[in-house]
This record gives sequence, C-alpha cells and structure tokens, in this order.
Amino acid sequence: MREYKICSRCIMDTTSDPNLVLDSQGVCNYCRRFEKVKKKYWITGNEGQKLLEEAIHKMKKDGQGKEYDCILGLSGGVDSSYLAYLAKKYDLRVLAVHVDAGWNSEIAVKNIEKMCKKLNYDLHTVVIDWPTMKEVQRAFMFSGLANLDIPQDHAFIAAVYQMAKKYRIKYILNGGNVATEGILSNAYQYTALDYKHIKGVYQKLGSGKSLKKYPHVTYFDLHFILPRLYKVEMVRLLHYIDYSKKDAMKILEQEFDWQYYGGKHYESRFTKFFQEYYLPKKFGWDKRRDHISSLIAGGEMTREEGLKEMAVLPSAEQEIEEEKNYVIKKLDISSEEWDEIMKAPNKTEDDYPSSKKMRERYQKIKKIFR
Ligand SMILES: [Zn+2]
Repeated sequence: MREYKICSRCIMDTTSDPNLVLDSQGVCNYCRRFEKVKKKYWITGNEGQKLLEEAIHKMKKDGQGKEYDCILGLSGGVDSSYLAYLAKKYDLRVLAVHVDAGWNSEIAVKNIEKMCKKLNYDLHTVVIDWPTMKEVQRAFMFSGLANLDIPQDHAFIAAVYQMAKKYRIKYILNGGNVATEGILSNAYQYTALDYKHIKGVYQKLGSGKSLKKYPHVTYFDLHFILPRLYKVEMVRLLHYIDYSKKDAMKILEQEFDWQYYGGKHYESRFTKFFQEYYLPKKFGWDKRRDHISSLIAGGEMTREEGLKEMAVLPSAEQEIEEEKNYVIKKLDISSEEWDEIMKAPNKTEDDYPSSKKMRERYQKIKKIFR
C-alpha cells in the first residue's frame, strides 16, 4: 500500500485512491482537473445568464408545434429535482420521465409525484421488466467488478433516450454538473454507457435469458443515430447558474415539501447498498469522499467541514447490514454466495469485453479532425 497522503485542498487521499497524484503544492490531480472543467463548462454571472437564456430560447423555438420542448429524467434526487424547478421558471414544456428499475426509495417516488403535480408536468414512468433487470444485476454481482451500478445507470439513460426518440424530442435536460460531481475518482468507475461491456459480463455470468426487455443504447446509437439522425442533444442548465446543493435543497423543501433521502444517489436502494457497503468493504472506496471533495472544490463546503462529515458513518452499521440483506434477498443470492462474492478477487473492465479500445480510437480520430 502507498504511503498515506491527503490532498491539501480536498479530502481525496493516496490510500483510498490508487490513481491519486499530488503535485508540488500538495494539490491532487482531481482538484486540478476540477479547475479546468469548471473554467470550460461552469459559466456563471452575466455570461452564464446569457447562455442559459440562449439555451432556453433554442429549446422553445425547436419545440414549436410539438407537445414538449424537452425531456427530463427525474430520479427524485437533488440535481434532477432542482432542474425540474428551474425549467418551470423559464416556462419550458417538460416531459418528465422516471425510470423504475425496482429499487426506488419511497421518499424519492413521493418527491417525484409532488413535484410533477405542482409543476404541472406530464410524468411518464418507465417500469423496467424486473426479471430481466434482476438477471443483469445478478451477473454483475458475481463479476468482481467495482461498478455494480452500471446495469441500473445504463437502463436509466437508455430509457430516457428511447422516450426522446418516441416523442421526437430533441433536447434532454441533464442534471449532471461540476458543482456536485466535478471530482470523481477514475480508479473504479467504468462508464455505464458501454453496452458491449454489459452484454459481455452477462454472456459470461448471466442465465442466458434474452436481454430484449433491457433498455439499452449501443455505441453507434449514442454517437451517430441519436445525435445525427434524431438530432438529440444533452443540455446541462445547471452549468449556467451558481448552483449550490444546499440552496437547491432549501428551495425544494420550501416549494414542494421535498424530502432528502440521506445521501447522494440514495434515491435508489441498490445504489445506497452499493455505495455504503459493497464499494467501501470490497474496494476500500467510499464515494462520499469524492462527493464531499466536489463540494469543497466548488466552494460550498470548507475542507474542515468535509473532514468532519467524512468521519461520521452515513448510516448505522446495522442499517447498512439490513440494506445489504434486502438487496441480496431480492437478487436471490444466498449468504454463502455473498461471502464468495466478497472474497473473490477484484476485477476491472479489462477482464471483460468492452468498447474501451474502440472508444479511445474514436476519441483520437475526433481530436485529429478538430
Ligand atoms: Zn484534491
């Protein structure tokens, strides 16, 4: 194990992140990347306001004669909920899509219902075929891979794309943002957008049942069919405002009686288990470190406040254990199998088929042409 050193700016450290590098000033590679990304994408003030209005104007103009201007994937979490509120402020006609992969927390579902009602948004809930979802998730559970959330994340994204296609909506409002997600370790987080990888893991470890009912998008869909043929575009409005998680939560609570569910992405019970149990216990990675570091880098929290928050467990040990038992029972994994899963060697995406090489090649070619 490497010598323990912690970044002087955020709370990422050398032992929990094998890819962390500190420069001569003791600042980590993630903080340096945050600076670059912030400069490029997170534009606030007058310039941000102008960009925000331009984006809204474009969506409204293209939405003329159609039922909706844009589509929004609503998880019930802070970022997507705040985005729903922001879109209404500018009178965008939004089709809200919620994807139910079988793991929704009750609080998240209530948040979505309350918001759509008050904002007067049409809400479309896509319910993923549970037997299929379960099979894909089970295969990942036995894979030894770090990112067990890939099957769920991929299905969310694919379902929203499919709705955009179905209703011929050109714009997808995306809650992704630098403020709360600008720092994310690249050590264990393989992309959820690689369907070849999902299929590869499933073919090796799955039951062999058809994946026809699993919503998915291929590399070709993402890079050619959707953007070129259907002209679908991602719009990240949170990049044009002084986005603060704390302020957003306050507004949501006041306006919608919205409720917090205890942690980033805990709107899914599977994700809560994945982030609180599986990742820290098997890979030594506590994702809260990244989330807190993002808030520190974005100026929402001091480093001292971050260290204090990190020192406290998000949930009681017993609750974490119960959550794990709920997940493995729902996925039909016995406690013996579970022990084997936790003891098995850790793997990476390179141990399974993926589009990684093709993606890297494509990025290189794109760069040359630019
Ligand atoms: Zn740092």
